[in-house]
Amino acid sequence: IDNIRKYIVGIDKKAVLRNGQKSRYIFFDNAASTPVLLPVLEKVNEFLGWYSSIHRGTGYKSIISTAAYEDSRKIIGDFLNLDMEKNTVIYVKNTTEAVNKLSYRLGLNKEDIAIVSLMEHHSNDLPWRSKCKTVHINLLKDGSLDIKDLENKLQSYNNKVKLVAITGCSNVTGYINDIHSIAALSHRYGARIFVDAAQLAPHRNINMKGYNGDDYIDFLAISAHKIYAPFGTGVLVGPKAVFQNGEPEYTGGGTVISVSEHNVFYTAPPEKEESGTPNVVGAIALATAINVIKEIGMDKIIEHEIKLTEYFLDKLSLIPQIEIYSNTNKALIPHMAGVISFNVKHISHSFLASLLAHEGGIGVRNGCFCAHPYVHRLLNLSPRDISRIQQDLIFGKLKDIPGLVRVSFGMYNTIEEINIFIDVLKYIVENIDSLSKEYKYLESKG
Ligand code: PMP
Repeated sequence: IDNIRKYIVGIDKKAVLRNGQKSRYIFFDNAASTPVLLPVLEKVNEFLGWYSSIHRGTGYKSIISTAAYEDSRKIIGDFLNLDMEKNTVIYVKNTTEAVNKLSYRLGLNKEDIAIVSLMEHHSNDLPWRSKCKTVHINLLKDGSLDIKDLENKLQSYNNKVKLVAITGCSNVTGYINDIHSIAALSHRYGARIFVDAAQLAPHRNINMKGYNGDDYIDFLAISAHKIYAPFGTGVLVGPKAVFQNGEPEYTGGGTVISVSEHNVFYTAPPEKEESGTPNVVGAIALATAINVIKEIGMDKIIEHEIKLTEYFLDKLSLIPQIEIYSNTNKALIPHMAGVISFNVKHISHSFLASLLAHEGGIGVRNGCFCAHPYVHRLLNLSPRDISRIQQDLIFGKLKDIPGLVRVSFGMYNTIEEINIFIDVLKYIVENIDSLSKEYKYLESKG
């Protein structure tokens, strides 16, 4: 892990500050997308020479491409500890597409219930809302899941609950959910479980088989761009049987055994679910990133990221006027990923994020992180506040929505980068009045 930085593509890129100076760039927005690993870039470059359409070609290049594509599936299945006999690994564009595909393929109707949580990214909430009745698991005061509420809802809606769709790790607070006890609980009430592992996969081992029989994970999705491979590839995994019958969401080339003028015979999953010419390059990139992570060892990544998170929270909590929305209890840090959301009183989240970029060359994210209901809860907004904000947004009256600033670590970030961040943040807080005036002046100048 100490040597990992030299394998991060773009680590030497500079930022241009407000004063025109070039500065080293600190990237603390890994929860959005992680940088690509050098072995991934090299593998992709090497493969581009062998690039050829898969499955249907008989030429040498096509055979190589097909083998690489199918090997990648095995590497991904192995990484998730998936029973490949019973399950299928379907390549998709990203986690959002995976959830949409699953919600379509489960054949839900408006009487069916999906339980999601108030912690979800919109991508694991809105697809369910559009297909069936969706109820939300409540949160405890600290923003973590109220498991008792889940059990109550499973009990009261009884066998109408078809699925519990839950994030493995929050992209706002970094909280890691106990997906295996949630799985066991859901199975006890006859519901299946889907885990949105977009945020979990780069930070923890995943074990779809579970540990004791009934705590296995039925369905799961990941995105390559959050685990050190490029944009454009994701994976949905789940039982073959679910995808065996019925029509795929997208039909067309690659999905069939035979088509006549009046009949269509679909092939088996995963091909059935991967219409059109597949993204072989993306599959190979994802499998290569996974191989690198395996080589480094998830245990080392976890240890390093916990160290960063502990140190960061220690330093951050000393900043005057800070409000931290993630856990600050040291004992609980091992149960979270290095994703920390905060605000500084009297500084808007958008101004603070832009000051970090323009004064310090630091990339963070601000806003609601595609998790509006969760951020509303963390900010303690009342239903009346939320409705006023929504009205103002719709009518274009609101310049800056309520939100947070988010720092999120990757396996390659360092204590030294945190020290620089804290110094820049202190400088901003101490000089906020003069900075506000200077930026207002610059804004007036366009
Ligand atoms: N779920 C979570 C928890 C996420 O953090 C994200 C990405 N921010 C997504 C789902 C959606 O991922 P993608 O944009 O790759 O579809």
